[in-house]
Amino acid sequence: MSSSNTLPLIDLSDLRFANACALLAHGSAGPLPAPEDSPLGYVQSIIDGLCELSLRDPLTGLANRRQFRSVLEREIDVVARSGQSALLLMLDIDHFKKINDAHGHPAGDRVLQAVANCLNACVRPKDTVARYGGEEFAVVLPDCQVSFGQTVAERIREMIEALRIPVTSSVSIQITVSIGGAYAPEWIRSTAVLWTDRADTELYRAKTAGRNRVSLGNQQVISVSAEEKELLFGHHALSESGWMDNVPVETPSGAPDSIAQNANRAIN
Ligand code: GH3
Ligand code: MG
Ligand code: MG
Repeated sequence: MSSSNTLPLIDLSDLRFANACALLAHGSAGPLPAPEDSPLGYVQSIIDGLCELSLRDPLTGLANRRQFRSVLEREIDVVARSGQSALLLMLDIDHFKKINDAHGHPAGDRVLQAVANCLNACVRPKDTVARYGGEEFAVVLPDCQVSFGQTVAERIREMIEALRIPVTSSVSIQITVSIGGAYAPEWIRSTAVLWTDRADTELYRAKTAGRNRVSLGNQQVISVSAEEKELLFGHHALSESGWMDNVPVETPSGAPDSIAQNANRAIN
């Protein structure tokens, strides 16, 4: 009989593990514990292994879009509470289709893997590198001061440009990336979609300005989008001058400015 916090016992032989075990055998996880030695450890390892698989891009081993999204949401929470600057970079390989066309799809895959390895080598352990899709990557950099953003992004761009990627036994190729970046607005709870949209807009700028370059949003507060202002002010008309002045605003402890002051800076 199960009480409110005890699950009924399950006989492991009633569960079908074959597909899960076959999937895990192709992943990078180590061997599973023998079920007869540790039934609980065995099941837990399968669950952990499947979670890990569901968060990784199989070609590059990077965080996939699902993991990226959850890291972004966690970071938005940290920025809203602490006011720490966090930078999101979106990268897109320039003229990648030509690589597939000239050297074949497997060569294109090797380029994607080389870029993934290079990105991992360029950033801090606390940063998250993700494959956003196709030949696009994203890097989330928590606690990254505004004054460092351009330098970090330029360093990544230069390191990728310096790669010589072997695509056949006799051919190595060189690639470039365009990078767009945006900071999460400090003290304001943005959304993953709005933050990504701003970084994407900057990426588009870098592309249209000629590729192989970095474009960063000016500054986190000044560059918040209209939708982010809406998140702060709700449906109250922004044109009602002085509206915020009369509203008591709770600021997180240690905030250098009140939310109202930041918001007013955002509007101006
Ligand atoms: P731009 O400089 O404007 O970004 O041009 P581009 O050629 O890089 O961009 P485009 O969107 O025209 O082409 C992207 C190509 O990426 C097309 C698609 O076949 C290829 N691609 C997407 N995913 C993969 C993948 O997993 N492996 C390989 N080899 N190619 C992929
Ligand atoms: Mg693209
Ligand atoms: Mg591209």
